[in-house]
Amino acid sequence: MSGAEIAVPVAILGGGFSGAAVAFHLLRLRPELDRVAIVEPRGEIGRGLAYSAADPSHRINVPASRMSLDPQQPDQFNDWLEALGRLDADPAARMADGRNFPARAVFGAYVAEAMAAQGARLVHVRARALRVEPLPAGGYRIHTSDGGSVRAQIVVLAVAHAPPSPPAPLQALAGHPGFIADPWATEALAALAPDSRVLIVGTGLSMADIVASLDRLGHRGEIVAVSRRGLRSRGHPATVDDPYGDFATDPARTTRELVRRVRATVRAAGAEGKSWHCVLDQVRLQGSAIWQALPLGERARLLRHLRPFWDVHRFRIAPQVEAALDRRFAAGTLTLRAASLRAVEAREGDIRIRLRDRRSGAEDVREVDAVVVATGPAHGRVFADNPLLAALAADGLARPDPLRLGIDVDRQGRAFGADGRARPDLFVAGPLARGTVGELMGLPDVTNYAIRIAGEVAAQLARGDADHAA
Ligand SMILES: Cc1cc2nc3c(=O)[nH]c(=O)nc-3n(C[C@H](O)[C@H](O)[C@H](O)COP(=O)(O)OP(=O)(O)OC[C@H]3O[C@@H](n4cnc5c(N)ncnc54)[C@H](O)[C@@H]3O)c2cc1C
Repeated sequence: MSGAEIAVPVAILGGGFSGAAVAFHLLRLRPELDRVAIVEPRGEIGRGLAYSAADPSHRINVPASRMSLDPQQPDQFNDWLEALGRLDADPAARMADGRNFPARAVFGAYVAEAMAAQGARLVHVRARALRVEPLPAGGYRIHTSDGGSVRAQIVVLAVAHAPPSPPAPLQALAGHPGFIADPWATEALAALAPDSRVLIVGTGLSMADIVASLDRLGHRGEIVAVSRRGLRSRGHPATVDDPYGDFATDPARTTRELVRRVRATVRAAGAEGKSWHCVLDQVRLQGSAIWQALPLGERARLLRHLRPFWDVHRFRIAPQVEAALDRRFAAGTLTLRAASLRAVEAREGDIRIRLRDRRSGAEDVREVDAVVVATGPAHGRVFADNPLLAALAADGLARPDPLRLGIDVDRQGRAFGADGRARPDLFVAGPLARGTVGELMGLPDVTNYAIRIAGEVAAQLARGDADHAA
């Protein structure tokens, strides 16, 4: 559609899971809406970063029964899996207790199929959005990388995850064949010799995925994973209890009080024979109420001191991935270190790394064949790294939130402009609204928030219709 312009009531910029979920629920809420456009360079709508993963060992990290496009039908994805025999080719996805953890790509296929079923009501503009231009008569013109444009009354930003930002010392490795900056590049991992020595920078979910990939590819060499605290993401409990505790009634006003309440609740759960998992599940479910009760300074304190601990308890790894990690720990070929990178030297046949142990302060030097970046998406840099957001900020239409978690939005999910006023027709869906919403990363939370945004967009459309009629 080079050079052409299409006009739609609503344009969604970014067609990962968040953009897909907003479109899906908006088209349901407004059956008379004939067209919604999604601007997305990937070939299919709904996959985004997480569910484009080509590697079969990259699995969903919550059971399929908790991942649905439609919370009213929580088993929708699981039923879809079973009905189509999608797991026949991957028996390892099935756990003995009935839970299913298929590859993330399979979840992507389920969402993409649901989006394709919307037919002509959903227009996929296969391009990147470059700039959002406000029009004098209202609405926006979105300029796209294919030379075309989209005119829309309402815009939803759903661009989410930024690429990882490697720690500064790794810049010395630019161009080195053993430097793997994109942890999802399975071909780069496949090119490593089975006995190669690997350093993974990061010890969270991305690290777990990389170890599972290497293990599947037959790699048996030594892997060392480093992060400031060396914390490992936890697995799922053997038995699943209902969420436990209450953090939303009279929520804590300080981080210290929150920690005290969580610890006391974990103790109370333990006394009833329940694991910490169900308490943390409740903290996640009530995350928005908890976050909103904390003043800005306390939110900053929480991010500074608690986030690494929260991340490893809240984001659980799939049992199959956990088993791969456990195998490697038992074989002595995987070590987690709480350490910082002091120096990195690219050499002819390998890479020399100097690490400083966090606890002892002692430094040690090791040679490795490959360094893989697993620090996760660098959300603090989205305004620098995503040209669309850079353009929105330059035009005064959006700004980073004060804690640099993403985009500054009001309680209705509307982006604040540089003038501090929320724009009634520019919404943000997905994890980049976390600064206001609080916990907003896992699929159940992202779905519920997308439904809220779809409702806000539908209400704004109705206001526009009323203005026209008047
Ligand atoms: C690796 C990974 C694995 C995860 N696994 C799970 C899991 O198993 N279970 C779970 O509950 N949660 C999981 N999550 C969390 C959650 O599901 C995701 O955060 C969620 O899918 C967010 O999707 P999104 O659409 O907001 O973001 P993204 O997936 O980042 O999608 C954004 C889309 O915007 C597009 N885009 C970017 N810039 C532009 C532009 N200028 N113009 C047009 N398009 C643009 C990108 O191409 C991309 O497709 C995972 C997250 C990650 C990162």
